[in-house]
Amino acid sequence: MSEFHEGGCVCGSVRYRAKGSPKRVSACSCEWCRKRTGSALGVSVYFEEENVEFLQGSLKTHRLISDAGRWIDSQFCKNCGTALTWTLEFLPGYRGLAGGTFDEPSSWFKPERYVFARTKPDWLKIPDGVKVFDGMPGSARE
Ligand SMILES: [Zn+2]
Ligand SMILES: [Zn+2]
Repeated sequence: MSEFHEGGCVCGSVRYRAKGSPKRVSACSCEWCRKRTGSALGVSVYFEEENVEFLQGSLKTHRLISDAGRWIDSQFCKNCGTALTWTLEFLPGYRGLAGGTFDEPSSWFKPERYVFARTKPDWLKIPDGVKVFDGMPGSARE
């Protein structure tokens, strides 16, 4: 039996379903994550692209070129603006889903890495066992 995780935006018009378990879960305090979430960090849950299905609603895409010169296509609900999902030139074949947009409370996944720790708030303590990167990892394989 396959495992499914569903989620959607604040207004309910965009809904998605991810199949299986995430391939990578990271927390990140880079400027992009802070601004797209309006929070101190973003939690990114990555699935293989073919395992994420959009069930309804329409998304608007914004392309950002990172400091490293690579594109980030983030997609948000046209109606309510919730930032839901993105693809990265850095991680081909994967689709990121915003950790807070799943219907289930987030205890079913756990970040295994913390990226851009140099810009995390002082009050946030990274749990033991999480791999910490001061900035961007040097390659997608790390
Ligand atoms: Zn919406
Ligand atoms: Zn980030």
